[in-house]
Amino acid sequence: MTLSDTDLAHLRRCVELAREGLADGDEPFGSVLVDAAGVVRFEDRNRVKDGDETRHPEFEIAKWSASHLSAEERAAATVYTSGEHCPMCSAAHGWMGLGRIVYAVSTAQLGEWLAEWGVPPGPVRPLSVREIAPGVPVDGPAPELAEEMRALHLELQRRRGRVA
Ligand SMILES: [Zn+2]
Repeated sequence: MTLSDTDLAHLRRCVELAREGLADGDEPFGSVLVDAAGVVRFEDRNRVKDGDETRHPEFEIAKWSASHLSAEERAAATVYTSGEHCPMCSAAHGWMGLGRIVYAVSTAQLGEWLAEWGVPPGPVRPLSVREIAPGVPVDGPAPELAEEMRALHLELQRRRGRVA
């Protein structure tokens, strides 16, 4: 499935949340859960700055969905996210039986940027959603948002002193 205008609007909100996270000292990742009726039910952004490195928005969405949505509602929901789910979040999404994922930037894209900037790889292998949760429909990336997301990630690396 290609990205619709509605998809792009939700992804733009994810980018806003990512920007908000970065501005608050966290990492630039934001995500939104939209139900089958097109209603935004939950949104969050990265909150790792206080030391809990598992506080990814996609993980929070999976946990939120356990107590707020039925299995049918979860399967019919779409999770939009500024950056493709990491393996932890892909697994949580898959275990909860959530539906389609739409991302602005793929894990492969982010990996290319980090390699280009000379940033060392992180502690978790950068596997795609498809490798972790093969039954989940996945769409993305959104080239319209790549430049903006690249700038946010570059700013994060500058703040960490990894990029001049
Ligand atoms: Zn994650």
